[in-house]
Amino acid sequence: MKIFQKQWLSLALLIAVALPVALRAERGGGGDILKSSYGKNPHFSGGAPPVGNTGAITPLISNHGGAVIGTPTVYVIWYGNWTRATGSDTAAGQQIVRDFLQSVGGSPYFAVNTTYTPSSSVITGGVVWGKQTTDTGSKGTKLSDSAIQSIVSGAITGGRLQYNANGIYFVLTSSDVTATSGFCSRYCGWHTYGNVSGKGRVRYSFVGNAARCITSCAAQTVGPNDNAGVDGMVSVIAHELEEATTDPDLNAWYDSNGAENADKCAWTFGTTTALPNGSFYNLTLGTGAATRNYLIQRNLKIVGGLNYCVLQ
Ligand SMILES: [Zn+2]
Repeated sequence: MKIFQKQWLSLALLIAVALPVALRAERGGGGDILKSSYGKNPHFSGGAPPVGNTGAITPLISNHGGAVIGTPTVYVIWYGNWTRATGSDTAAGQQIVRDFLQSVGGSPYFAVNTTYTPSSSVITGGVVWGKQTTDTGSKGTKLSDSAIQSIVSGAITGGRLQYNANGIYFVLTSSDVTATSGFCSRYCGWHTYGNVSGKGRVRYSFVGNAARCITSCAAQTVGPNDNAGVDGMVSVIAHELEEATTDPDLNAWYDSNGAENADKCAWTFGTTTALPNGSFYNLTLGTGAATRNYLIQRNLKIVGGLNYCVLQ
């Protein structure tokens, strides 16, 4: 009886949170899993990326009581064929993503997320690099939402990636792969959570290769690291990483429209600088040989009770 009552309580809670979650999930794309999607670039121009609004942003973001992740550990699953000699799907392209994920923690850019307090745990601004693995195509090249979840759970239950309750698992696809709930047509990436049987809750994200639809899922057709597709993906990865940190279960930080922090600053870049190859960048991260320029979207900072889109 006690278990029965608990189940009804869970059901009531589920109904209570289902409405705002569903509204948010609908904004970016359908599919069979509730998720927070990052919509396509609405204003691709071919020129300098948009600065965006520098004044206070409304409606204000607020804490709906859900968990945040204090210091996320990131895991990457390279899905598809990332061994091509040219184009976006190269070993050099993978290195751009690793360099970003290994240098974003502790940066002034990621520290913007530390303004999301109070919460059930304190966001430190740190990001730990976990591990990477490959999946050369266990679910084919047309991935449903549930196939993407299976790719994550398969990597964990198969022992290729460890289970980490503070982990954020990224499925990064090569340019021959699509996601059937709307990659390129409705969204460029998304994040959500699921359950890995025998392990527990897992937070994960899909980010498709922007080379597949460069004017929809990137801000420019050349990149600061000479890989337009992957350079475009890095901004989407940053977006999903900050949302999965501040709203990992889709019940913590979002505004009255259901927009999470990075959604509110999507496809805006602040001050950018041109490079000799014709691309623009707005952020330099890393040390030594891993130092790179990136074009990364701004994120929402809480300052004195107001919200601003900033790079740091
Ligand atoms: Zn988003």
